[in-house]
Amino acid sequence: MTFDGLGLSPKVLSAVVDAGYTTPTPIQSGAIPHALNGKDVLGIAQTGTGKTASFVLPMLTRLERGRARARMPRTLILEPTRELAAQVEENFTKYGKNHRLNISLLIGGVSFDEQERKLERGADVLIATPGRLIDHFERGKLLLTGVEILVIDEADRMLDMGFIPDIERICKMIPFTRQTLFFSATMPPEITKLTQQFLQAPVRVEVSKPASTGVNISQHLVKSGSKPWAKRARLRELILAEGDDLKNAIIFCNRKTDVATLFQSLVRHEFDAGALHGDMDQRARMTMLENFRRGNLSLLVASDVAARGLDIPDVSHIFNFDVPTHSEDYVHRIGRTGRAGRSGKAFTLVTRSEEKYVQGIEKLIGQDIKWLDGDLSTLNETDEPQERPKRGRTDKTRDKRKDVRSGKAEEPDKKDVEPKEKPAAQSQDRNGVARANDQKKPDRQKSKKEPEAPIGFGDNVPDFMKVPGKV
Ligand code: AMP
Repeated sequence: MTFDGLGLSPKVLSAVVDAGYTTPTPIQSGAIPHALNGKDVLGIAQTGTGKTASFVLPMLTRLERGRARARMPRTLILEPTRELAAQVEENFTKYGKNHRLNISLLIGGVSFDEQERKLERGADVLIATPGRLIDHFERGKLLLTGVEILVIDEADRMLDMGFIPDIERICKMIPFTRQTLFFSATMPPEITKLTQQFLQAPVRVEVSKPASTGVNISQHLVKSGSKPWAKRARLRELILAEGDDLKNAIIFCNRKTDVATLFQSLVRHEFDAGALHGDMDQRARMTMLENFRRGNLSLLVASDVAARGLDIPDVSHIFNFDVPTHSEDYVHRIGRTGRAGRSGKAFTLVTRSEEKYVQGIEKLIGQDIKWLDGDLSTLNETDEPQERPKRGRTDKTRDKRKDVRSGKAEEPDKKDVEPKEKPAAQSQDRNGVARANDQKKPDRQKSKKEPEAPIGFGDNVPDFMKVPGKV
């Protein structure tokens, strides 16, 4: 099948040809004709299946008729994260290059003013995260009564992130006569209920998970001591052992605080690393991602929320610093590698307390994952040091590190010291590559000393004591 038979407009078809796509993916050939006919669509598909184009292409075709009015967007796309929203915007720019459409992106972490100006001009396409959309609505800057097409993307992720009440509220603000295109990778009961409530006689299009989740990805479990420094040392060993096979990798942590700590530790060990987590402002996240895409960074430490749905081609390795507690997340994580028929490798560090989650994952993916060098029963004392490594002590990977990922000269210093609880702030060099701040300021090493006993209130002087008294 080709794109020609789907009913898309000549302008859209020309942009598709320019993008280099010749054959529609199953979700595209299944959803596009129905979306063009104005039917509601329930698409059960993951990222990586081409689902973004499956709603962007018919929307572009349908938007060719009519014009936008101030503050009344014609179409609305809801995305769970800012990155996904920005990615959808990129898709509109790519496939809509022959159209003159106003596209507005309403996401958190950036100023309201610019967004308001764009709304004022009239948006053909509004791409938003639920929270920011509601904020604009409540400020009276937005009317949803003109929305003709509503897209809800990654609905199961919306559920994980607690957005369902917001989605319900938004759906009720939009006329019932709209067309709804609804996408979710899985269909838990809460999502089924939502579709029953807000979709009208939808056409269900279900595509199987991309073949990349398993076939061409070699997966391994790796036993690890449970102390954070033992895990970090194990991770470094793994990275170094991969040598030149490792082109670039995403390292997933379960908690965003661990993302920051691990990132800082890797930078101290002179790995070429960046971080991506939900607390970073939007600009920092986009710059980081761009640097990773371009190959300026080889390692990206990320949380699930920040990384969900990212379209990063050709990631050679995935490291799970923690075993994901939701089995689905494992599939999403390793789905970042081995894309488009390439081969990929996924390593998952497993501590004794995390072993219980492995079973659920194996059940979900329908296969046992091999242990790299023995299971947890073979853990020994060197894997589980009870003491945090002392300052100045070198770890066993140090000698190899120089020529593997960093390319920088080794310095005999204190890199194995556990970073402070509060991670150092990130800064960016001229290329936008993130660095831990104390890399730039060697005198910050001082902060690793035991804190001196505070004098008086120390830094915690109550505010009322700072008010100048009357003489
Ligand atoms: P998505 O599932 O929307 O995140 O898309 C995954 C990747 O597939 C993106 O890099 C798209 O540019 C690419 N893609 C989308 N449609 C096609 C197609 N018909 N043929 C080849 N690649 C495609």
